[in-house]
Amino acid sequence: MWRQLKWRIVGGNMAVVIAGATLVLVMTQLVTRRVVPEPIVAGLRALAEASDALGAEAATAVLLETFRGTILTAVFVGALGAIVVGWFSSLALARHILRPLNQLASSSQRIANGRYDERLPIPASSELATVAAHFNQMAEALATIEAQRITLIGNVSHELRTPLTSMIGYLEGLMDGVFPSGQETYAPMHAEMKRMQRLVDDLQTLSRVEAGEIGLKKRPFALYPVVEQVLTQLQPQLTAGQLQTAVLEEEGETAVVVHADPDRTAQVLLNLLSNAIRYTPPHGTITVALRSHHPFAHITVHDTGSGIPEAALPFLFERFYRVDQSRARKSGGSGIGLTISRHLVWAMGGDITAHSAGPNQGSRFTFTLPLAAEP
Ligand code: ADP
Repeated sequence: MWRQLKWRIVGGNMAVVIAGATLVLVMTQLVTRRVVPEPIVAGLRALAEASDALGAEAATAVLLETFRGTILTAVFVGALGAIVVGWFSSLALARHILRPLNQLASSSQRIANGRYDERLPIPASSELATVAAHFNQMAEALATIEAQRITLIGNVSHELRTPLTSMIGYLEGLMDGVFPSGQETYAPMHAEMKRMQRLVDDLQTLSRVEAGEIGLKKRPFALYPVVEQVLTQLQPQLTAGQLQTAVLEEEGETAVVVHADPDRTAQVLLNLLSNAIRYTPPHGTITVALRSHHPFAHITVHDTGSGIPEAALPFLFERFYRVDQSRARKSGGSGIGLTISRHLVWAMGGDITAHSAGPNQGSRFTFTLPLAAEP
């Protein structure tokens, strides 16, 4: 029973009250015996000298006893009253404190059972109000995570269903002899399988970056060679898209040196440039600009392509978001490339933003990385 906070509070309060009452009783005894009686005794003696000495002595003793008895009774009743009041007030106090705590216990139990809409009423006491407010914030965060989890499952199954349906269609066509068993059937089947593989790879990367599980190998390195390397890698796509060779601008005399992970930086650049290639029609131009603005390097990928409507800009970095669902899916985009890029840039201590003047006005993606400290 004493393990319960309720009885500990009651016990604590009662101990204080009982100690106080005992002290009052002891002090009364001491005071009535030593201090107070002397002047009274002296007064009574003076009175007795005037009359019968023996009778006066007896009268003094009775008077003193009465005096002591009266004070003791008064203090005893007072102390008893204090104990009773202490008992009920500590019970009321314990209840007052425990009610919100009990609510907290049952609400957290309900949340543990998956009821994320559970919220606590805010109690009057400031400490308990803070606890309740923090609890409600936690419940809110859990509800958001749960909603994101449900959306994620929905998105993943939707993304997987499309290539699977198409694969089943091809296979049934082959079995029924509707489709010829040759390159013309296997090539699109292969493309669908590649799309599924890309999606699964992207999902794995996404889960690792979101969990902060990618081991970054940060070191100082010059950005220019990394950009060149990514552009060389993308040369076949640039040529196929009849896009003007990306121009590399570098401001100032010295090369921009950042402190980040070169491979992850290349991955982000690859994603931004692949998007630029994908969304820019033939004869367009893609530009990469490097600028240092202490304490960050700004890397901008600019294209003269399809552009992005203003309303879509705030959602670009969300998982599975695509401006034009059907077109992006046909071109092989999973809609998580930018989400991965943002997490990678964040992990390296930078940020990423997107700008566009609107449809067909081109797009500009800029990400920042911390500049390496001067040697
Ligand atoms: P995806 O793999 O579909 O390209 P991303 O996360 O990389 O996924 O991009 C999300 C969406 O942002 C794209 O589907 C596209 O609608 C839009 N987007 C990204 N880059 C560009 C760009 N350079 N020009 C126009 N739209 C873009």
